Amino acid sequence: MEKDCVFCRIVAGVKEEDKIWEDEEFIVIKDVNPKVDGHLLVIPKEHFRSFLNLSSEIGEKLFGVVRKVVGKLEMKDFNLIVNNGKFAGQLVGHFHLHILPRRKGDGFRLNV
Ligand code: 5GP
Ligand code: ZN
Repeated sequence: MEKDCVFCRIVAGVKEEDKIWEDEEFIVIKDVNPKVDGHLLVIPKEHFRSFLNLSSEIGEKLFGVVRKVVGKLEMKDFNLIVNNGKFAGQLVGHFHLHILPRRKGDGFRLNV
């Protein structure tokens, strides 16, 4: 656990959040400031500052967790986003992946 890391505090249960999903290595929680309805964050329990620091084990398991969560919630339309590094808009320095469920007319624009 990294002190002063909000996601480490959530993982440790020091800061309480509803967990949509949890296994040995990951938690999935609702984003506190959702960009669309149902905006989720997939967070490894171990503190990795960046995508570039992820262990190969966690990197390999990440999409498996995404598949389980979108399957469980029966999501069909969604964006998966990682903001990696300051200039990419990363605000929390503990790696996480955003799941943004999409609906017709939700007004969210992603310019890729
Ligand atoms: P980033 O820009 O780092 O990819 O996004 C960080 C995300 O974490 C933001 O969407 C922000 O709303 C979310 N977030 C920051 N602090 C908390 C928190 O304490 N709880 C939850 N559930 N989400 C948080
Ligand atoms: Zn952390």
